[in-house]
Amino acid sequence: MKRLLDVSDLRVMFHTYRGTIKALNGVRLWLNEEERLGIVGETGCGKSVSALSIMRLIDPPGEITHGKVIFEGLDLLKMSEEEMDKSVRGRKISMIFQEPVSALNPVFKVGFQIAEAIAHSNNISMDEAYKKVPESLEMVGLDWKRSMELYPHELSGGMAQRVMIAMALAVKPKLLIADEPTSALDVTIQAQILQLLDELVRMGKNAVILITHDLGIASEFCDRITVMYAGNVIEVSDSQEVFQSPLHPYSKGLINSIPIIGASKVLKGIPGSVPDLVSPPPGCRFHPRCEFCFDRCRVELPDLREVKPDHFVACHLYSDDSKEG
Ligand code: SF4
Ligand code: MG
Repeated sequence: MKRLLDVSDLRVMFHTYRGTIKALNGVRLWLNEEERLGIVGETGCGKSVSALSIMRLIDPPGEITHGKVIFEGLDLLKMSEEEMDKSVRGRKISMIFQEPVSALNPVFKVGFQIAEAIAHSNNISMDEAYKKVPESLEMVGLDWKRSMELYPHELSGGMAQRVMIAMALAVKPKLLIADEPTSALDVTIQAQILQLLDELVRMGKNAVILITHDLGIASEFCDRITVMYAGNVIEVSDSQEVFQSPLHPYSKGLINSIPIIGASKVLKGIPGSVPDLVSPPPGCRFHPRCEFCFDRCRVELPDLREVKPDHFVACHLYSDDSKEG
């Protein structure tokens, strides 16, 4: 399968009155055509910032200070704004967000907004684009005659997310980025939306980046999982492997804290809390919470390295030269 996206050493900072937030600290991500990658981790670990950086949607006081985002062989960080708008954003890469209602424009009817997305991405007139709207709405299971005429505030959360999905996929993107697409919805609707997304992505052969704090959802939906912690990628492997044999102490803790229905297992959370990224801990950013921490962890940031075929981890426990610590 051909490589679609290769993000390397991505660094993002936010300059705030409290100081500089080192939000991404050298992130590496990669994705093949038609592949589904899950990015998981707690709130504030850099999942959304990574996605927004790929789209070049980091606005001041945020700044991408370093790195490469190679998409179809071109570095998106070197493209002009105009090129990004003309050929990448909302065309080759489209995005859906957690709060579908607020992502839609409140003053325009659903039909108009979908038509606009289609017109923009296909370089066609609004009249032409309107003709394609019914098909888009039907695809996401909505009654097109009725939904076209609705304003965003007249939609339920589930309907609004269906509209967002219709808009995002109407442009036939190579890559769909879904940032917590179901976490604002109730559980039964969540399942329906994920199933819909699954079917449509299969048909459209889109690659997907699914961002979620829910490892269960990620592993069911995705081929491969990237675990992030405090602005770093700390583990990457296929979905099953990360569940069955996680390597990083943080991933192990995450998996241990997933409740299993019917099991009498005592839930073990991860002690401590996520660091303040204005003054993150030196070395491994997880070290203040890690029960395996040794001297080297406090001074040296571990690299992400492949320790088993297709299984990558950033932890000194797995470095060849780790034992002197
Ligand atoms: Fe723990 Fe050290 Fe590994 Fe970080 S590098 S996760 S502190 S053992
Ligand atoms: Mg987020």
